[in-house]
Amino acid sequence: MLDKLFSPASVAVIGASQTPGKVGHDVLRNLLQGGFAGRIFPVNPRADQILGLPAVPSVESIPEPVDLAIVAVPAAGVLAVVEACGQKGIRLVVILSAGFREAGAEGIHLERDVLEVARRHGIRIVGPNCLGVMDTNARLNATFAAAMPPQGSIGFFSQSGALCLAVLDWAAGTGVGLSHFVSLGNKADVSDAEMLEAMEGHDETRVILGYLEGVDDGRRLMETASLVSRRKPIVLLKSGSTAAGARAASSHTGSLAGSAQAFAVACRQSGIVQVRTLREFLNLALGFALQKVPAGGNVAVITNSGGPGILAADACDSLGLQLPTLTQETVATLRGLLPPMASLYNPMDVLGDAQAERYSQVLDVVVRDPSIHAIMVLLTPTAMLDVPATARVIARVAKRSSVTVLACFMGEARVAEGRRILMEGGVPSYETPEEAAEVLRSMWGHRLWLERPEDRPATVKRDLGVAREVVDKVQASGHQNLSPVEVTRLLAAYGIRLPRSAVARTADESVTLAKEFGYPIVLKVASSEISHKSDLGGVRVDLRSAEEVRSAFQDITAAISRLRPEARLLGVQVQEMITEAREVIVGFQRDPDFGPLLMFGLGGIYVEVLRDVTFRVAPLSRLDIREMLREVHAFPLLQGIRGQPPADLPALETALAAITQLALDFPEIEEGEINPLMVCRNGQGVTAVDARFILRGSL
Ligand code: ADP
Ligand code: MG
Repeated sequence: MLDKLFSPASVAVIGASQTPGKVGHDVLRNLLQGGFAGRIFPVNPRADQILGLPAVPSVESIPEPVDLAIVAVPAAGVLAVVEACGQKGIRLVVILSAGFREAGAEGIHLERDVLEVARRHGIRIVGPNCLGVMDTNARLNATFAAAMPPQGSIGFFSQSGALCLAVLDWAAGTGVGLSHFVSLGNKADVSDAEMLEAMEGHDETRVILGYLEGVDDGRRLMETASLVSRRKPIVLLKSGSTAAGARAASSHTGSLAGSAQAFAVACRQSGIVQVRTLREFLNLALGFALQKVPAGGNVAVITNSGGPGILAADACDSLGLQLPTLTQETVATLRGLLPPMASLYNPMDVLGDAQAERYSQVLDVVVRDPSIHAIMVLLTPTAMLDVPATARVIARVAKRSSVTVLACFMGEARVAEGRRILMEGGVPSYETPEEAAEVLRSMWGHRLWLERPEDRPATVKRDLGVAREVVDKVQASGHQNLSPVEVTRLLAAYGIRLPRSAVARTADESVTLAKEFGYPIVLKVASSEISHKSDLGGVRVDLRSAEEVRSAFQDITAAISRLRPEARLLGVQVQEMITEAREVIVGFQRDPDFGPLLMFGLGGIYVEVLRDVTFRVAPLSRLDIREMLREVHAFPLLQGIRGQPPADLPALETALAAITQLALDFPEIEEGEINPLMVCRNGQGVTAVDARFILRGSL
């Protein structure tokens, strides 16, 4: 359906104008100048002819069927135009006109009305408030923005018009060109996910680039991207990621998770390459558009000067790329070619007197080395070097080889011509070795994604009936926080164990319970109004006798009545002590765009200080969970170091899967968290010693 956006047989320009500088004039002029081969119908009730084409007075009077309508009438007239398009059978409408959502309350209503009419007729809308669309292959320039850039292999869509202009100019200036271009404007209807779908279907497009300000349907974006990214790299730049996490949070998960994390992990989980800066965006666009995705992370650096070579090596190293030594055969061949002073190891220094010829010889040998997946060619413009000639030989070798080749010609004035030749020859050129290394890292990351096995969501056994009963009861009671008893039942239904525990109202009762459970024992304040118990002196662990229990009971009640006199106390919880365990945190909260956002990390009372946590969007596969565990710095602690036995990782994985399932099963639970989840030694399982679940407040 959206396909016609790029290759319409006929286009109507509604609101076409004779006055240069008006949107309705410029878009028609661009269509004509671009060389579009299809039929073009200017619609204007007050003109017979515009830019040499016969005009028609209304949409109804267009003599033929129309694939694509470009609307450039003032906002107030758009509703009637869309209705007319519907009558005429036009199913694709690009609204360039401004004056909608971006213009305040009235505009919001107008946009909604336009959308309603469109829906009724089955019309899809791009925009409003956008620059238009281009397809360089079909020679379609339906924008009022700019001349068409050269044909290329980048498909680009953007919510920001200004960024559109900048990217169009960049594509023209670098010569790299574009295949498709869509300015989404207010994104009232056609979404990011649909752009991915539409661009995937076109062979000319090798990489899809998108700039987003907001996400319209996060789940759909993830689902579509997961499929599309297996065929084409997707690079997204999203602005506005810093305002996240601003809300006051009562849980650890809440204070550490935000919409920026949700977007970042959603990208990772669906194979989207997320970039944070415009520079990175364009650098990666070049890499993916011009070069092949490297088969691995082994890089050979070829340089004519020492310093930049070391900078490149440092940059690669810090990003996890390897600079392996070349095979003996390669080294032997190079020894025969290069002067004795040259470094044959990686980085390879071809020396300051190198000419194009020496670069060419070395490249020819290195591209054949089986241990190398990518080559970074550095060049410093030494006095005698013929830079353009060197660029030409690099492009020649790169074209014939299956190895990824990137260049970094350092400087400006003396290398500008060389850079242009490289780009034309299909070799991306970057200003600094660090940028080239970043591009390689991201391209390799895409390779890893392509190689990553697909895995189904992990399933867990649970007693939905019991869980439903607990949640319904809490809801009926009007409470939002689950009590310790409710938490115990809920977690038990998902197979998560809690320590033996009971509430004591008096010191004597606490001693009796301690004796029953066995020493050592833990006492903690029991109140649903206190969420961080340790902060108030409300937790005492490792109590080993009746005396210790008795005085801990008194200390806790005294501390709470001093620090939180208003808090309603149930008493003091006497709890079995879990020993020799490692503390982790497992929690979730809900992201408005992506749904349950799971958090895992090093647990305990210092979670916010250490911030050793990682996130994923549900559902999770076993592979996701395993990767998640390995992502936190503290993972070796779970594996067992310094003579410690390994922790029960299988049980931990299952607990994470269970909490994920719980989050998916009960949308009415707004957030949940176990901190700490005690992970005992392998075979001994996990125990939730502190957990909280909060239902969504009534709206
Ligand atoms: P809060 O997080 O409200 O301060 P917790 O119940 O999480 O209270 O207890 C704080 C810390 O005390 C835990 O991180 C853990 O180190 C320790 N702790 C609490 N309960 C137990 C227990 N049953 N067994 C072992 N250690 C415990
Ligand atoms: Mg806790």
